Amino acid sequence: MKCEKYLELISLYIDRDLDQDEVDLVEEHLCLCENCMIFFRTLKKTVALSRVYYRKKYCRVPKNVSERVFYQLRVIYEKEKF
Ligand SMILES: [Zn+2]
Repeated sequence: MKCEKYLELISLYIDRDLDQDEVDLVEEHLCLCENCMIFFRTLKKTVALSRVYYRKKYCRVPKNVSERVFYQLRVIYEKEKF
């Protein structure tokens, strides 16, 4: 599976929205692939920060925010050709 295919899985992984097989798949790939690990860390940090920010107003990050972040990271990811 190509790195691009992992982008969405990594996003879901952060949201804890994967089944165990997919979790294993992502974790295995993150151990092997530095670029995806960087993507994972960046996304995780961004999601965590926006959660802190939005906690004041909302219980959770609005879905469109995480989607926008994900989209932008994906653009960066493709531009940098990781
Ligand atoms: Zn990768």
